[in-house]
Amino acid sequence: MSITSPFGLNALESIAGNFAKSSKLPVVFIGHGSPMNAIQQNPFTETLRKWGESIEKPQAILMVSAHWITMHNTKISVNPNPETIYDFGGFPPALSQVKYPAPGHPVLARETAAMVSSIKIHENHEQGLDHGAWTILKHIFPKADVPCFQLSIDYAAPPAKHFELAAQLKKLREKGVLIMGSGNVVHNLREVNFNSPNPAPYDYTVEFDSFVKKNLESGDYMQLVNFQQNANLAIKAHPTHDHYLPLLYTLGAADKGEKLNTIFEELQVSSISMRSFVLG
Ligand code: ZN
Repeated sequence: MSITSPFGLNALESIAGNFAKSSKLPVVFIGHGSPMNAIQQNPFTETLRKWGESIEKPQAILMVSAHWITMHNTKISVNPNPETIYDFGGFPPALSQVKYPAPGHPVLARETAAMVSSIKIHENHEQGLDHGAWTILKHIFPKADVPCFQLSIDYAAPPAKHFELAAQLKKLREKGVLIMGSGNVVHNLREVNFNSPNPAPYDYTVEFDSFVKKNLESGDYMQLVNFQQNANLAIKAHPTHDHYLPLLYTLGAADKGEKLNTIFEELQVSSISMRSFVLG
């Protein structure tokens, strides 16, 4: 049969269309750690590189990073050409020379905003890519050829609201959008320990990281939404919880019972967990 036969071609197109609709991208959380990871080759950055090579290239990335925090509102970047932002201080000049020129995706960004009915998502036209985004994407998609748009985190909203917002974004996964949270499972910058190359983690670092691991494995995401129930432990692991909230976006966009794949786990500088995982 010739491929120009009306049945043959239409049938193929139909199969391709059905496949595109039924396939669903995973959701991911990356513990980004130090901005220096952007220009270092180490077990963490190697893991990101290999994982990026192993997955189907997405249409776009929806990035929820600890470094785009807003108050009493949520914004989405519709900037078609987001600049690389150097939102840190005290690092070698080489780090501020890195460019990550991935384009934005205003169409998918606006579709994303329209999916959310619980709150209004405000368009932002100027936002660039913060270092929670580009320092990891540089390893995952080194060609910067996957468009990336960011959603801000309303720090004034309670944890459950972030989880509920993310649940409204699940359909993006069927549109080829990779939903990525970038923060850290334990993040206490006030107590980082640079006194030795591999210092022992603090007790609270081990305890909170284990709490997250256990509930990821059992799929008990509500325990993770309610992480402040153990207030003393939560405040030690996260004196501010900006690096924790991206995790709730990854979990909120996941379905119950999705397969957990932990891609990296390490406790660094005594008070940072680099735990990174994929669901789905
Ligand atoms: Zn950070």
